[in-house]
Amino acid sequence: MLIFLNLFVIFCIFVIGTLFGSFFSLATYRIPRHQDIIATRSYCTSCKHRLGFFDLIPVISYLVRGGKCKYCGEKISIRYFLLEVINGMVFVAFYLIFGYNLKLLLVCLVYAIIFVLIGAQIMKTKMTEEEKNEIKKNNKKGVFISELVIALIIFTIFMASAFILTRNYNKNINKMIARSNAINLAVKNMEMALATDYDSLYSYTTTSKVDNIDYMITTSVTKFSDEDFDREDLVKKIDVQVEYMLNGESLEFNVKSLKGKVL
Ligand SMILES: [Zn+2]
Repeated sequence: MLIFLNLFVIFCIFVIGTLFGSFFSLATYRIPRHQDIIATRSYCTSCKHRLGFFDLIPVISYLVRGGKCKYCGEKISIRYFLLEVINGMVFVAFYLIFGYNLKLLLVCLVYAIIFVLIGAQIMKTKMTEEEKNEIKKNNKKGVFISELVIALIIFTIFMASAFILTRNYNKNINKMIARSNAINLAVKNMEMALATDYDSLYSYTTTSKVDNIDYMITTSVTKFSDEDFDREDLVKKIDVQVEYMLNGESLEFNVKSLKGKVL
């Protein structure tokens, strides 16, 4: 179960990474051209046709269209596809290295800033004379600070919201995992106590660390002495309490056995 949940989180982070990769392509292309990066929908760079919603799905849309523009049939550079895939992998790597916390958000943000700064410079050198003249004509030259600032603000908003959304999801998963660990520990200790001879039964407290969470397991055994019962009717009652802390919250799980006959 744990591995599937982990794989699902990794998959989500990969998808977020490809979305950002797609946005990076757009930003590095448009920033040197002094084009708006928010309001204008993505378009094919050869026929200028606006892309539809399904054309915007990273990685998949490229594969489905066989790397060609749906509208003009012009080949789309594999650079876009690779950028999306690699970016997805980079985000997953960051997640595996830094875990799920504020550090991850900051690392991704710094990565985005460096990526767009360098990418925009590279894309600037690939502009045609025509495009350069167009910018000069519009009297927009030199550094494009305003575009960069807008890009950075958007990155921050995008990333913060993406991480807040998945963080809540992740919190719930952690809670589920912690609880299932507690149930496992309680059942294990209960089974152990039930399988123990009456004479060697005793109460005990032990600790266990699972998935980086500390669990305190208290197994309480109530014996009914032979003063109360005939030897063959001896019964025992076992309570197992598992206590643990998660995100500053103190949680517990209890199991109680029915009064059972002694083995
Ligand atoms: Zn096209």
